[in-house]
Amino acid sequence: MPILVVGSVALDTIETPFTRMDGVLGGSASHCVTAASLYDQVNLVGIVGSDFPREHLDFWRGRAINLDGLQIHEGKTFHWHGRYHMDMNARDTLDTQLGVFADFHPTVPEVYTQSNLVFLANIQPQLQMEVLEQMPKAQLTVLDTMELWINIERPALSEVMKRVDVLLMSEEEVRQYTGQASILKGVHHFFDMGLKYVVIKLGSYGALLFGADGTYFTAPAYPLEEVVDPTGAGDAFGGGFLGYLSSVEPIEHRRYSVDDLKRAVVHGNILGSFACAGFGIDGTRLLSKQDIIQRYRELVEYSHFDSEKRA
Ligand code: AMP
Repeated sequence: MPILVVGSVALDTIETPFTRMDGVLGGSASHCVTAASLYDQVNLVGIVGSDFPREHLDFWRGRAINLDGLQIHEGKTFHWHGRYHMDMNARDTLDTQLGVFADFHPTVPEVYTQSNLVFLANIQPQLQMEVLEQMPKAQLTVLDTMELWINIERPALSEVMKRVDVLLMSEEEVRQYTGQASILKGVHHFFDMGLKYVVIKLGSYGALLFGADGTYFTAPAYPLEEVVDPTGAGDAFGGGFLGYLSSVEPIEHRRYSVDDLKRAVVHGNILGSFACAGFGIDGTRLLSKQDIIQRYRELVEYSHFDSEKRA
């Protein structure tokens, strides 16, 4: 089942406590499509400037990634500059340059409208809505966002939230949006808005899945000895989550089994963990299906306990 992804395609500057890198391939959509293409055909919607290196396009063309919806305009590609703290779960944005993104309006090519799964990766909520409106038949819609849009585009973001099935958020974003100190209370706020599932990304601590039907699942993070660059881990999470779902059949129209959603969260964690192993997409660029299966088995091993349900 093809996956449509809309989001930013960027050239980032990244500073970790140990290294600084300029002109790194980044952007929410870049990380997501690279991860999701390990599972299925991906249809990318976005924009780059005339400065965008051709080698990145060639790499994506060599994968199952359709670039018909990627506009190339005269001007500069979106640029983001971030600096990580020693605890790499925390970072500061030092600069954001919209470049060609400033006048961007996404057009979904006809062939993309067959995508059953839609990932609205982190970009302006108005642009996410424009894509959603062009995809009325999607079976599952998943939304990611960031602190910036909660701060400056809350009404537009809320409109998108009311229209999607699954929301991905960090704990801080839940508190920021809902004003609730308790994540559980915050999540119920989203169910009242009509969301079916909320996934809480916990960085190096894994992820939680909450369902409006009462589902609760906690997925461990894969233990990493070294984090090179966590940028894009959340987007790669989205790629693994949707990538896995693209490989299974819904139990009925627009409805996946809870077990499949749990496995999708684990695949999200796996792709997120790989993303941390390199700058830009280097952590996911050379992965194989076998690498994913190996990490999946390890995570099953690490997180199972008390198979006899003794006490
Ligand atoms: P993540 O680490 O998963 O939050 O994703 C980081 C990526 O998001 C970076 O590669 C940035 O280029 C991109 N990004 C940062 N700020 C924005 C923004 N305001 N809109 C869209 N993409 C952004």
